[in-house]
Amino acid sequence: MALRQIRLLGDPVLRERCPEVTDIDQEILALIQDLQDTMYEAEGIGLAAPQIGVRRRVFVYDVREDEHAPGVLINPRIVESEGVIRESEGCLSIPDLTEVVERSARVVAEGLDEEGRSVRLEADGLLSRCLQHEVDHLDGILFFDRVSPLKRKMLLAKWAKSEHGAGLK
Ligand code: ZN
Repeated sequence: MALRQIRLLGDPVLRERCPEVTDIDQEILALIQDLQDTMYEAEGIGLAAPQIGVRRRVFVYDVREDEHAPGVLINPRIVESEGVIRESEGCLSIPDLTEVVERSARVVAEGLDEEGRSVRLEADGLLSRCLQHEVDHLDGILFFDRVSPLKRKMLLAKWAKSEHGAGLK
């Protein structure tokens, strides 16, 4: 078990587009294990590789719902989306801040699992939102990029005043 430090807003790694995984080797398998360990320790429902400082298109998720098994997605893509949901969202990289974010209500995500098998996930509710949030991370997008400019400004001001955000430029 290896816990990794979760990178916080202000760390440039959170703002980069991550490259695809070309080979599911020992390094990627260790990354997945670390992501799972760190996500559970932090009691999150999803964690993407850049959040522990690794530029790779990989995330893990576990929304703790009986109908949705936990898992990993490598090189994920949202291939279908429909409807709209507006719910409060947070992020382990921006502790203590939440805001209502508009997302697609239902999505279909595709990618690979840790054994290189194709995965197709049809999701609604919390899992749908989680998958969209995590795919965003791999493109350097954070949840507050999807709220109005005014709300984003308020969130950043709140963050700058928080213990984590102190020193953020
Ligand atoms: Zn996040």
